Amino acid sequence: MESNASMVVHAWEAASVVTDWQRPAALLSALAGMPLPQALHLGIARRDAALVAWRSALFGTTQWPAFAQCPACKTMLEYELPRSSATADDSESIVIEVDGNHLNAKWPSSLDLADAAACPNSQAGRELLLQRMLPEPVADDLIAPVLAALADAHHGFMGIDLQCPECGKVWSEVFEAGEFLWREVRAAGRRILREVDALARAYGWTETEILRLSDMRRNEYLAMVQ
Ligand SMILES: [Zn+2]
Repeated sequence: MESNASMVVHAWEAASVVTDWQRPAALLSALAGMPLPQALHLGIARRDAALVAWRSALFGTTQWPAFAQCPACKTMLEYELPRSSATADDSESIVIEVDGNHLNAKWPSSLDLADAAACPNSQAGRELLLQRMLPEPVADDLIAPVLAALADAHHGFMGIDLQCPECGKVWSEVFEAGEFLWREVRAAGRRILREVDALARAYGWTETEILRLSDMRRNEYLAMVQ
């Protein structure tokens, strides 16, 4: 079985050579051994729920400390993401209600979002997203309410409402599981390579041999050489 250290380094490497929008999918692809095109096609709810689970598996933590800056008075705020964001529902579809009708929509994938962002204007981007997410076209007068319902569903899944303790301003932040995990994987990957360097110098072991050690054994050896 591959050690955590080895998986972190591989995920860091895989995610550092792709463009920003592909990064969450690239992390999942490296960690889960899933081909990148398949990860890019996953709905973002399922993708992010999987990333949340991988974060717990790799780093053994269920805490989600986060920082935000008040948009009004610039006070920095430290907060804990609610458990509901971190144990997201991982289905491929969402049911939204518009004018008393229930519509079954598919979560967009990383590719859908990138395609929408590449549209010449936001109107075209929204239309493309609706096409990808809904099984059939909606009437023109329903487009705005459908988009609002989809935004609400997205906010319920990945959004968090914050209030500034200094000025009372209320605003929303979007929780980006991929971005969150990427920062941690990058920091841990750099730390692990420094540890490999120290152990290779001290014992003459190869990178493969050192990455194969469990975290516990690597840390014990490090304590002996430092
Ligand atoms: Zn404020």
